[in-house]
Amino acid sequence: MQDPYQVTLIPGDGIGPEITRAACRVVEAAGVPVEWREVVAGSEALAEYGTPLPDHVLESVRKTGVALKGPVTTPVGSGFRSVNVALRQALDLYVNLRPAVSIPGVKSLFRDIDLVVVRENTEDLYAGIEHMVGADAAESIKIITRRASERVVKFAFDYARREGRRKVTAVHKANIMKLSDGLFLESARAVAGSYSDIEFEDRIVDNMCMQLVQKPELYDVLVMPNLYGDIVSDLCAGLVGGLGVAPGANIGESMAVFEPVHGSAPKYAGKNKANATATILSAVLMLRYLGENGAAGRILEAVKKVIGDGRQVTYDLGGSADTTEMTDAIIESMASYE
Ligand code: NAD
Repeated sequence: MQDPYQVTLIPGDGIGPEITRAACRVVEAAGVPVEWREVVAGSEALAEYGTPLPDHVLESVRKTGVALKGPVTTPVGSGFRSVNVALRQALDLYVNLRPAVSIPGVKSLFRDIDLVVVRENTEDLYAGIEHMVGADAAESIKIITRRASERVVKFAFDYARREGRRKVTAVHKANIMKLSDGLFLESARAVAGSYSDIEFEDRIVDNMCMQLVQKPELYDVLVMPNLYGDIVSDLCAGLVGGLGVAPGANIGESMAVFEPVHGSAPKYAGKNKANATATILSAVLMLRYLGENGAAGRILEAVKKVIGDGRQVTYDLGGSADTTEMTDAIIESMASYE
């Protein structure tokens, strides 16, 4: 029998434990043996260890190389800007991959959306270098380096090639930020030169937002610095029906953390109401990363079937099923494919 994969499980805060439990059940039902190494980050860790991101969490991810993570509430006043930003920076998870794909049955203004946002994950204004200048002004420093720009754009091209996609669009504001975004664009152009089989173009970020809303079918893989990636990926999630179905992955050279795009939705914590789809689809990305493409495909088909059918879906998808019922339906649907 196949040795189980060692995967770090970070249940997170709010609805995190419920939706990660659902995703673990689905992965196991797909026949992939996993030994989950559960560690706590967020509020529970803050109470227990005095920090929302204890070192042993980082150690566990370094050791297993793969983690499934629920959303974490950023505690106000702990001195921590964000557990998520800290985790990505500490493990040098330099890519934030956010696919936005239409799922029939999810209410949305658009159909047939198939976009992938590749967001730089370690620098830009998220480097967190800011200070007050006197009492009435604040300054935030935007860091863009050639190394970080080139490696994220290279990831976007390699991803496009691997996944059989046709085009990479670099998104920037180099007309105004001539040095920082100018360097990002220059790096993107330099990398694009080595990928003659993939089309390359660039767009200014404001124009990009308008075009995505008007003609999303023109775009394919989008690569951009951190802040634009944060915003544009939520826009793309909106094109496919919102955060409940938006998965994500943070990927570095030798490890990756998979998590939904949405937050910890504290008002639904412990109510068994939340939609676990975004976390289940994040687990699908994780299985692909592990090379378990068969299981990933089975889960995806089952999710589409249950959502398309519309009878066993959570409140946000227009149904009345709870988290457990929708998860059971996905698992049952998967069994019918075997
Ligand atoms: P949120 O995503 O938690 O909630 C936004 C809205 O969507 C709310 O109405 C919520 O109830 C709903 N929602 C979110 N996920 C849902 C799901 N799976 N099923 C059904 N409804 C869902 O955003 P927020 O309220 O801005 O943030 C809450 C907390 O989450 C904050 O502390 C924030 O810092 C944190 N957060 C964490 C992450 C992460 O860990 N990656 C990401 C974003 C926000």
